[in-house]
Amino acid sequence: MSESSVRITEIFYSLQGESRTVGLPTVFVRLTGCPLRCQYCDSEYAFFGGERKALTDILAEVAAFNPRYVCVTGGEPLAQPDCVPLMAALCDAGYEVSLETSGALPIDAVDPRVSRVLDLKTPGSGESGRNLYENIPLLTGHDQVKFVLCSRSDYDWARLKLDELKLLERAGEVLFSPSFGQLAGKDLADWVVADNLPVRFQLQLHKVLWDDAPGY
Ligand code: SF4
Repeated sequence: MSESSVRITEIFYSLQGESRTVGLPTVFVRLTGCPLRCQYCDSEYAFFGGERKALTDILAEVAAFNPRYVCVTGGEPLAQPDCVPLMAALCDAGYEVSLETSGALPIDAVDPRVSRVLDLKTPGSGESGRNLYENIPLLTGHDQVKFVLCSRSDYDWARLKLDELKLLERAGEVLFSPSFGQLAGKDLADWVVADNLPVRFQLQLHKVLWDDAPGY
């Protein structure tokens, strides 16, 4: 049987730009390919190409950075079946592993040691029809739910979903981010405070620091 492998766009060391571990040095393993086309996508360069790598080679590349945190991202990592054993192997190696997923594919096979950062796609993304709501009951306090908001109507939609899906009770964190260049961070911050919402407002640190250049 051939060794497990996944198609990789890049592996790099940077600061985590968002989520519960924002600001912490983290190795990013970016898998190639995504079945979605969000209108604000900032990683279109990961849709195609990449290089197929064996899991053992990926583990060796990650180990060379001697990290504590590893983030498996994309694209949509779960679109490649061998992403699941890759994440388990990263956990076995002792890293604190997170997964960034669009929320459009099943998360049930993901190792429970992984913190799943699950997007709920808003109407403004253009891909809200892809949300797989069967994932929601699977969330635990180790997981995070992320909304990228494009407008006030996206914000109002997200507030409804918070209550309807009981997200604050199910997930360890609920993250509200403004879509870069589409919604002013200050506006979103003001709305969150005015509504006294117990969500974590976040800006994408890597865009502030490095202007969204690949490899950061
Ligand atoms: S799910 Fe993520 S990678 Fe895929 S199109 Fe949307 S923003 Fe881009």
